[in-house]
Amino acid sequence: MGKINENRLSLVSLAVLGKPVSHSLSPVIHQHFAEQFGRAIDYQKIEIASKEAFIEFIAKSADRYCGFNVTVPYKQTLFDYALEKCEQFSVTAIAEQAKAANTVVYSASEGKPHFVANTDGEGFLKHLAKLAVPVHQQKILILGAGGATMGLLAQFSVLARSADFQGEIYLCNRTAEKAKSIAEHYNIHYWGLAEDEGVDVQFDLVINATAQGLDGSAYQNNHFTKEHIHPKTYFYDLFYQKQENTSFLNYVRKNYPQHPYSDGLGMLIEQAALSYQLWFGDEPTTDLLYAQLRL
Ligand code: NAP
Repeated sequence: MGKINENRLSLVSLAVLGKPVSHSLSPVIHQHFAEQFGRAIDYQKIEIASKEAFIEFIAKSADRYCGFNVTVPYKQTLFDYALEKCEQFSVTAIAEQAKAANTVVYSASEGKPHFVANTDGEGFLKHLAKLAVPVHQQKILILGAGGATMGLLAQFSVLARSADFQGEIYLCNRTAEKAKSIAEHYNIHYWGLAEDEGVDVQFDLVINATAQGLDGSAYQNNHFTKEHIHPKTYFYDLFYQKQENTSFLNYVRKNYPQHPYSDGLGMLIEQAALSYQLWFGDEPTTDLLYAQLRL
């Protein structure tokens, strides 16, 4: 638990740091949470131009901020910095596994370390639970092997320790070597694109964790075919757009029109709620935000 200011009316400063951040919904989300507890927050969006500037900002902000959310492209930079400054920062086990962090929590107590955490994977699983999409005993395909995938896999590895998980995870990525080494590290299946690397599996859940289509271009599917999809396969895109489908979900709607699907807005909300809880100890409710953020 972070820098709790016992006087809920005194203004607490927070921010999301990244590049770009102008589109970020985090200020609206955290304002909504703060209002649930009668807390006064000033939540800013701060665009930071370079890794060096990011590190300098983190190093100098402990006395002015309660904490930060960190987004693309600095999640790994934050983790590396916290490891390097291990006498000042501790790193949660999940962030350690993911080698990336999305939350900074500055400690209020003199001499007590600040810490960094990664709430992406847990936020994702919370959203799936809300959607009633099962993960236990499921065959799961993850497309992409970037920072978001690392956050998901770190959380899945916690689940995998429970005897009833028995899920099977397959990983595909444009840069095969990256997927291969991550699959090896997590002891999951690697699915390559070469002719002799095909898999004969029908997936229950297909997760798009690539940055493909972020520029609005059409989704190019080089991975799964109709043979890999069964009538109830669920499609989840980590990316989200407020009012329209993402390009991955447009592809899904066109080719698998009867299938259930979701974008990642719920994951964004749930990971934010977990960050809020790390800062203040309060567990916000998220249900109202789902509809509100689509308006
Ligand atoms: P990242 O670290 O930059 O990784 C991007 C991944 O996408 C890499 O695997 C990359 O493949 C792949 N990729 C990029 N362009 C591609 C293309 N044209 N064709 C095929 N693959 C391509 O990004 P990230 O942080 O993992 O984020 C991935 C997605 O998750 C983004 O859409 C992001 O907005 C979303 N996200 C959502 C939430 C949420 O709360 N909803 C949280 C985190 C991330 P290579 O390895 O070959 O480069």
